[in-house]
Amino acid sequence: MTSRSVEDHARAVARLLGPALTPHTESVAVAAALGRVLDADVHSPLDLPPFRNSQMDGFAVAADSVRAVPVTLPVSATVAAGSAGPARLVPGSAVRIMTGAPLPDGADAVVPVEDTEPTAGATTDTVTVHRGRASGEFVRDRGGDVHAGELLLGAGAVLTARHLAMFAAVGAAELPVRRRPRVAVLTTGSELVAAGNPLRPGQIYESNGIALAASLTTNSADVVFAESSTDDPDQFRDLLRRATESADLVLTSGGVSMGEFEVVREVLTPLGGWFGHVAMQPGGPQGLTVVDGVPVLSFPGNPVSTLVSFEVFARPLLLRAAGLAPVHAGARALAGPLTSPAGRRQFLRGRLVDEGVRLESGPGSHLVAALARADVLIDVPADVTTMEAGENVQVWPL
Ligand code: AMP
Ligand code: MG
Repeated sequence: MTSRSVEDHARAVARLLGPALTPHTESVAVAAALGRVLDADVHSPLDLPPFRNSQMDGFAVAADSVRAVPVTLPVSATVAAGSAGPARLVPGSAVRIMTGAPLPDGADAVVPVEDTEPTAGATTDTVTVHRGRASGEFVRDRGGDVHAGELLLGAGAVLTARHLAMFAAVGAAELPVRRRPRVAVLTTGSELVAAGNPLRPGQIYESNGIALAASLTTNSADVVFAESSTDDPDQFRDLLRRATESADLVLTSGGVSMGEFEVVREVLTPLGGWFGHVAMQPGGPQGLTVVDGVPVLSFPGNPVSTLVSFEVFARPLLLRAAGLAPVHAGARALAGPLTSPAGRRQFLRGRLVDEGVRLESGPGSHLVAALARADVLIDVPADVTTMEAGENVQVWPL
């Protein structure tokens, strides 16, 4: 069986997946852009606010006319949000105005309604102002937030609710975002049962498909196909054909090691796939094939192996395709000793603690509940067999 280092396999994967993960821009509706990566600088098409308007319910006045208070002014008009209102304020009068309504020319301040009272016994509409306001008070200027042509947000930002609020406010209908790779997930194993069904003897619940789909979504890919095959080659072949029809990239789990009924290896090797051993633990058996022009990346089926394989081989490429920052390893002190097999790079599950990083479980690649408690992978180099508490290791955030 052929064998290669983690680095060599990662390079082979990058080469094969490169065309499928080439960055492209697409346009999506603002309402559908949450979580997407902006793929170009976006400038404002208009001033915001688009017109001078009132910040309060109250009375638009010339500040000069309310310098000496109390003062009683005739109310010449009422303007609500959404109505154009009078073009000009008659000098010496007030316009009753609601929050967001346009300020008439000639008015330069708003007296909040709390600082006024309707004049008692008056036959005409008048208001008595008790507290004067300086020019500009409670007035929102046109362009006071952003000016037409100003940069709203730079390429590379991950769009949040507050970004979408801004784009909606300037009237943007669509945004240029990085296209998400379309990925198919195909798990294998005749023992697998979907949640919601009873377990018969020898069966287990399918978890890799759920885990891979979630990992893809987290790393800015679209899951366009998610199915589980038995170890029957015909069924696998059939599902694989459907997967390659719909996706830029296919991830498979299970069926790649040296036992019998290794359906992924058996079906893909004759199609020119590479199946071999990568000097790592977990995740030793790996596969890489191109089927009808679509790269198929095959991970071993143990749940921890599947997710570690995703972290090591798929995630860095997806992050790059998405225009997102790579995962940065950092050095942490080991909270306790560890041992590791010679000649294999080991990715142990760890948890960050005050003292540094502690092992979260043994090396068993079936320990999926222990994996859930981990927040980092501890990267033990291939030539290291023992480490003491206090020694520094590289950890990869999960
Ligand atoms: P395999 O790589 O197919 O030999 O599978 C290795 C181990 O992982 C076996 O114990 C399988 O039952 C288990 N396994 C394989 N695929 C899945 C899956 N999708 N969900 C949960 N466990 C799996
Ligand atoms: Mg299997």
